[in-house]
Parts: sequence; structure tokens; C-alpha cells
Amino acid sequence: MFLRELIQPLNTLRNVGDSVKSRLSDAGITSIASLLTRYPRNWEDRSRNVPLKDWNKGQVCTVAKVIAHNWFWFGAKKTLKIEIEDQSARAALVCFNRPFLKNQLPIGKEVNLWGRFYCKFNEIMSTSFEIGIPGSKNTIAPVYPLTKNLTQNLLRRLTQQALDQYCTNLEDELPQKVILNEKLLKKADAIKTIHFPSSMEILEKARNTLIYEELFYLEIMVGRRSLERKKDDRGEEQKHACGLSPLQQRFIERLPFTLTQGQVKAIEEINEEMSRPWPLARLIQGDVGSGKTLVAFLAALRVVDQGGQAAIMAPTELLARQHADNAARLLEPLGVRPAYLTGNLKYSGRTQLLKNLAAGEIDIVLGTHALFSKDVVYQNLNLAIIDEQHRFGVTQRQAIIAKGQNSLQKKGIPGLIMMSATPIPRTLALTVFGDLDVTVISDMPPGRKPIKTHLSKESNAQKVYNFVRKELESGRQAYFVYPLIGQTTLSGQAELPDGNSTDDEEGLKDAVSMADKLAKEIYPQYSTALIHSKIDDEEKRKTMDAFRKGEIRILAATSVVEVGVDVPNASCMVIHHAERFGLSALHQLRGRVGRGSDQSYCFLIYSDQEDQPGINPEELSEEERSREGKRLMVMLENSDGFVIAEKDLLFRGPGQIAGIEQSGYLKLGIADPVRDADALVRARTDAFSILETDPDLLQDEHHCIAAVLDRAPPFSEVGL
Ligand code: ADP
Ligand code: MG
Repeated sequence: MFLRELIQPLNTLRNVGDSVKSRLSDAGITSIASLLTRYPRNWEDRSRNVPLKDWNKGQVCTVAKVIAHNWFWFGAKKTLKIEIEDQSARAALVCFNRPFLKNQLPIGKEVNLWGRFYCKFNEIMSTSFEIGIPGSKNTIAPVYPLTKNLTQNLLRRLTQQALDQYCTNLEDELPQKVILNEKLLKKADAIKTIHFPSSMEILEKARNTLIYEELFYLEIMVGRRSLERKKDDRGEEQKHACGLSPLQQRFIERLPFTLTQGQVKAIEEINEEMSRPWPLARLIQGDVGSGKTLVAFLAALRVVDQGGQAAIMAPTELLARQHADNAARLLEPLGVRPAYLTGNLKYSGRTQLLKNLAAGEIDIVLGTHALFSKDVVYQNLNLAIIDEQHRFGVTQRQAIIAKGQNSLQKKGIPGLIMMSATPIPRTLALTVFGDLDVTVISDMPPGRKPIKTHLSKESNAQKVYNFVRKELESGRQAYFVYPLIGQTTLSGQAELPDGNSTDDEEGLKDAVSMADKLAKEIYPQYSTALIHSKIDDEEKRKTMDAFRKGEIRILAATSVVEVGVDVPNASCMVIHHAERFGLSALHQLRGRVGRGSDQSYCFLIYSDQEDQPGINPEELSEEERSREGKRLMVMLENSDGFVIAEKDLLFRGPGQIAGIEQSGYLKLGIADPVRDADALVRARTDAFSILETDPDLLQDEHHCIAAVLDRAPPFSEVGL
């Protein structure tokens, strides 16, 4: 029996009735297995003596004797207070709602005592304490994550019972070879030890065992997905040479510049992979401005040459439209038929467009996630490209695969290219994206000057405005970005760019009112426009067009301009309340400038209380260099998106990686891919080498893996 197969309900445990069962089920504990995998969040080492007199040095852990029973308050609130003493001091146990302790702790009795004590009216006391019989074995106690209606004692008691009743004969879920190599515990021992360890050393081993096992299965699933893809043999199509295809050739010839080395390498790798019999799956990482769009177009063109369709998906309408405009400009002259599919259902051309897509009269379709919505049918979707992949969750992948498989003309898994500037941390790249090949574009188009970044206090904003004025005078353009759309909504609350309202945004500048101020007071001689997510699609398009053409010189915006927007003549990015933005978002915003050959500037303006001069980071006081300051300093000191993402991770902690918290990339029980990166890499090597030698898991020693996958497959919720 595997642990994950213990699906018996909890009332198979002694003394568990309906009420306890429903309390547990409220906390998500519905079976023996889920009880046993509710791992402790901490362990209290009770082997070390801390006498009462040292109550302020930590949790008291001592042997104490009961010396008196007192009562205070009267009537319903009547409360028991038990006087105790150990060799060092006297103290009181305040027994709220526990009058029964009077009988359990008669005067003269000696008990083991643990608890947090405090001192009040010169008396050492505790309301949160535990008692045990002296000499009892468990000197390390588990501390479980609690939710309403659960207590430590209840969980400890039930867990102990479940271990005794069900875990005498647990099967190992890892091959013995792996257990030996990694010096892991047997599953039964690991699960007992994780709850009730006999020493801190053995606890460490138990944790390592369970962490390794979880990561091993994660990687087995990843490896299997990759095998599955390679089984999807495309037969007749496989023998294309992997040089440039005719459309790719013509496209490159028409470009006004040459491709960078990174772009060339990316397209070579894509071409090579497309010449193999199975669909490609690749992650392309290249910093903001490295020219990923062209790589996407080139990949799509190869598919068109092969008679298939390609879909390019972007996270915002603004970016999708920009891609569509570029596609029209660059691809139509080659005789390729691109189209922009908006999610906007009111758009009258949509029905016709969908017909054309199903009829194969569109070669490359560009849009937002609407590209994969229900009513969209492809004739032959052969390649899906996801731009700014970090903005999407992993579940998208299932939808894309389904679209390809349900194409009218032919069924199969479509190729997949994910592009990201915010690098996916290596550890995640090895997990949910662990079956993708990775291309890194590490160079930039020539002639780019590094962007000069300045930190400025709000009180110094005038200096920034003056600086930007000079840039405008010499013909450049500027973005001003704000954390809020408008100051107040109808309900009197400030409006955030994601459409939520909040009432603690007092004193923040917003795009709507600042657009007005920029136009009327600060730069009346230049044309200013406003852009944010609530503005109508058509108007957004007009605004962006005018900005691109230079008819609009100043764009007041929210973070809608964060991803992808490409206007090379813009040389200034001013971000107000920079402290409100994540580092990766700041890096993306900064990447909107520095796209031409001119020197570009980014100003990070942060709120300050006092009115002090100093645009220069050197002038910041120690305190200002505290957390917030340090965070923004990262932007001054680094221009490499990969480094910034890593620092972002440090500031935010694992599990908080950009975009990942919302999209539910991966929920693990005990492992943490960032913290346990070393184990992850080893587990991956083990899992992959097993799958390589024995893909169908037929060998005796791999029998347990096949059995686990068969009976209780893990990780289905992340599409693995
Ligand atoms: P990102 O990687 O951030 O998506 P883009 O694809 O938007 O970058 O490209 C940024 C800018 O660089 C665009 O204006 C694009 O036309 C230009 N560009 C791309 N490749 C090259 C190149 N090889 N030489 C010169 N400019 C290029
Ligand atoms: Mg881009």
C-alpha cells in the first residue's frame, strides 16, 4: 500500500465522530493520506531544559510540581489558576476554559511542562502551556499549521493514531537504488519521523526523503510529457532540411538591419528542431529589447512555408495589436496573410475572421488569450508562440495543445515557443517548463546605449521635469507611468490598473489627473495623451499610433505600457511611486526606452516624507537605504534582467516570483524548488535516466514508479 492510496475517511480512526470529521474537512483534511501529509510547519525540541526562571529566554521546558489551586472571577467566567514550581521559580498556569485540569493536576503531582510564559504583576504566568507525564518519550513535538477549529493536540493525537493504525506496512515509492544512493529513509520511517522525530538529525533525513520523493515524481511527470511529445511522429513532414525556409530567407533580406548573433542562433535552433519528427517546445529567454518579436515572426514563417498556421499570443491588447501592426507591415509584402483577433466580441469583423481562420485563409493570427477561446477553430494550427510567457499561467498550455489537436485538417500536438524577458528562474525552468529546450538571446541589437537610471525623491520631481523638457526640446518622447488609473471612482475609491479599487491609496499620483497636469501645467507646448487598461480599444490604438508617429510626445500611462511596447524615439521613462512596483516590472518599464540609438533615461521617483534635496543615490541616508531604498538601488546597479529577476526573488522570497503566485504554477507539499534546488537537479537526473533506459517502466526495480503513476498520479492540477 502506498501512502497516497490511504483514502480511508477519518472516522475510521478511533474516537473520531462527525463533528471532528467536519472540523478536519473544513481544513482540507479529508482522508488518512491528507492527514499524514499535513506536515508540521515546525518542530519544538523539548529535550533541552529551560527552567521557569528563564521564561524570557524562550519556551519553558521543565519538570514542575503542582502546589495550589486557586480560582478567580465568578459565575460563568470562573477560571482556574494552578500554582506550580520547579527548582528555579514559582509560576501560575491560567486555565481558561479548562476547569478539568483541577482533577488532572492534583496538588503534589509532578509533570513535564512546556509553554510560553510572561510576567504580570510580578508573577510568572502562562495561558498557553502543555503538560505531559515525566519521562514520556517524545522530546521533539510537531507544530502543525492550524486553521480555525483545529488544535495542536487534536492533530498530534490523530496523526499518531493514523500512523499506528495504517503505517506499519507502507510501500516505498522510490526505487531502492535511489533510496540507497541518496541515503534516504524508507517511506514508512520517513513519514513516522516527519511527525514524531526521535532526534533532530533523523528529522533532517526524513525531510530530505519526502522532499526528494516529491521532486522525483515531479520530474518523472515532466520527463513523460517530453517523451509523449516525441512520440507524436509527424511522418511525412519530418524530412525538411533545417536551413532557412524560402519565406524566412525573403523576410531577412528585406530587413533594414542584420540579425544579431543571438537572433541567428535562436532561429537556427528553432529550424533544427522543426526539422525533427516531433513538435518543437522551446523557451526563448532574451532581455527586454533583444529582438524576440522577429524571432517569433521567423518561426511562424517556417510553419507557413510548410502549409500550417501559427498563432502568436500576447498578454495585453496593446501588445497584441502592436505585433499585428508589425506583422501587417513586415509580412503582408511577402504574401503572407496575418490577422489580428481581438477578444472584443462587439467587433463586427470577428465572425468573418473566424471563418477565414477555419478555412485556412489566415496564415498567422495574432491576439491575446482569445486566440485559444472556445469558438476559435483552426484549419491547421502548427505552432503557438506565447510572448511574455511569465504573464500567463501554465494551464494555457493544455488549451493550446487541444487547439492543435482539434484543428480541422490534422491532429497533433502543435509546436510551442514561449518567450520571456523576465527570466523564469532556473528552478522553475526545470519543473513545469522542464520539458522545454531553452534558447538564450544574450546580445542586443547594435548601437544601443545603456539606459541611465536615476533615483529621485518626489520632492525633487521638478528637476526631473526640467531634464525631460530638454529631451522633448531635442525631439525625443517620454513616458510617465503612475500606479493608479484615476484618483477616485464613483464609490470614492482609488482605482488600480487591474480594475480593483482600494481605499488606502491616499496621496498617490494617478495617470488621469497627471495627464491633465502634464498637458496644462508642466509641458503645455507639447502634445500629451493618456493610456490605461480602461480606455476603449480603438482609442488605445489611435493613441499608440500617434505616439509611434511622434504626433504625441508625452504618454501618461499605467503599467499597461509595461510589456512589449516599442517606440524607439522615446528616450525618457519617468516612473512615479517607483516603490509601488516590483523590480521585474520596473525593469520591463525601463525597457520601453533605450530602443533606438539615442541615450535614454529612466527616472524612478519615490515618495518621501521630508523635503530634502538629493537626486543622487549617494546622498541617501542609511535609513533610506533600508529595504525600499536597497530594492530600488538594484535598478541603478543592474541592467541585466536576469540579475534583476534573481534579486527580485531574494526580496520577495520563493513562491513570490513574478506572475507565479496568481497563476498557481505549482503547488508542492513539502518541497520548494528554489530552496531545494540541489535536490531538484539530482531528482531530475535520476528521473530522466530511468525514463531513458526504461521508458515504459517495465523493469522490476521501476515497478513502484509505474504503480504510483497508475494508482494515484500526482500533479495533474498543473497539467503535468
Ligand atoms: P523584445 O525582445 O523586448 O520583444 P523587440 O522584438 O520589441 O524586443 O525589439 C526591440 C526593437 O529592436 C524593435 O524596434 C526592433 O525592430 C529592433 N530590432 C530587433 N532586432 C534588431 C536587429 N537585429 N538590429 C537592429 N534592431 C533590431
Ligand atoms: Mg517583446
